[in-house]
Amino acid sequence: MGDGLELLRLVREGRPAMAERLGQPAYRGSQIAQWVFEKGISDPEAMSNLPKSLRAALAERFRPLGPRILERVGDVAAEKLLVQVADGDAVECVAMERPWGLSVCVSSQLGCPVGCRFCASGRHGLKRNLAGEEIAGQVLAAALERRVPQHVVFMGMGEPLLNLEGVLDALCLLCDGKAYSIPERSITLSTVGWVKGIERLAASGRRVRLAVSVHAADPALRATLIPRQPDPLPAVVAAAKRYEEASGRRVTYEYTLLAGVNDGTGHGTQLAELIGRGAHVNLIGVNPVEGGAYAAPHAQGTARFGEVLEGRGVNVTVRRSAGGDADAACGQLRARWVQRNNMG
Ligand code: SF4
Repeated sequence: MGDGLELLRLVREGRPAMAERLGQPAYRGSQIAQWVFEKGISDPEAMSNLPKSLRAALAERFRPLGPRILERVGDVAAEKLLVQVADGDAVECVAMERPWGLSVCVSSQLGCPVGCRFCASGRHGLKRNLAGEEIAGQVLAAALERRVPQHVVFMGMGEPLLNLEGVLDALCLLCDGKAYSIPERSITLSTVGWVKGIERLAASGRRVRLAVSVHAADPALRATLIPRQPDPLPAVVAAAKRYEEASGRRVTYEYTLLAGVNDGTGHGTQLAELIGRGAHVNLIGVNPVEGGAYAAPHAQGTARFGEVLEGRGVNVTVRRSAGGDADAACGQLRARWVQRNNMG
C-alpha cells in the first residue's frame, strides 16, 4: 500500500514510465495523471475512462492516493495544512488565495538548521531534508483540496538552498509536466543567503525567482536574529544581484518587521543603502510565536518604515500575514502536533 507519495515517486520518471510500472500501456499514465494532477480527482472510482480492474488496483495500491492532511487551521483566504511525509512525521504548507490566483507556500526541510529567533521551525534544529516528492506532495495536497496553484513559494519550514537536491527534484515534478506544468517564473525560493547555494541554483539552469530574507541590514543585529546564517549579508546581496543578472528574474528582499527591534528609521536607511535604488522589498509583520519575545509593529510603524525605503528609491510591498490565529507562525502548527503525538 502506498503512503500517498508513491504516485509522485512513480511519475518522477514520466507518465509513460509510470504506466509501465503499473503494468499498463503508456497512454494510461497520461489518463491517470490527468485525473489526479489536472482535474484534482483522487478517488480512482471517479476515473471513468479507466477499466474497472485498474480502478480497483489503483485504490488498493495507492491508499490514500494523495498525501494525508493531518490538521488544518485558517480560512479560505489563507489555510495552513499539516501534511504527512514518508516517515509519518509532518510538514506545514499554506494555501493562500491571492488576487492573481492560488499561491502555495511549501516546506523544504523537516525543522530548520538556521534557527531564526522569531520562528518556531528553527527552535529544535534540523531533523532531515525532505525528498522531492515530499515537497511536491504539499502542492498535490493543496491542489486536491482546491485547484492547481498559479504560484509556489518555498518559504515554509527549512532553508531551501541547504536542500537544493530535494528542491531541484521537486521542481522536476512541479514544472516539467510530469505532475504539473507550473512555469519557473511562478516559483519563488526564499533564502537567508548561502552564496554557494545561489551559485548552484544558477548553474542548475532553473530560472526560478529568488527572495533573500534580510530581516536586518546591521551585521550585529542580523547575527542575533539569524544565529546560523551561512554567509555575511553583503556577500549574499552581491550573489543575489549576479543571479538576477544571469536569470533575468527580479530578486526580492524579504524583511520581517519586529516592533522596537528592526523597524527604526536607521534600520530602514541601512537596508536601502545595502540593496540600492530600484530594489524590491516585501515588508511583513512577524507572526508572534508562542512564548516568543517579538511582536509586529502597528500599521503606522510599518508605513513609516516603508516611507524611509521609498524615500531612498526602494520599491516596497506590504504583505499581509497568512492566517491570524495562534498557529499562524511558521512551524507552530507542527510543533503543537509533535507535542501532542510525542513525535519529538
Ligand atoms: S525563518 Fe526560515 S530560515 Fe529562519 S528558522 Fe524559520 S524556516 Fe528556518
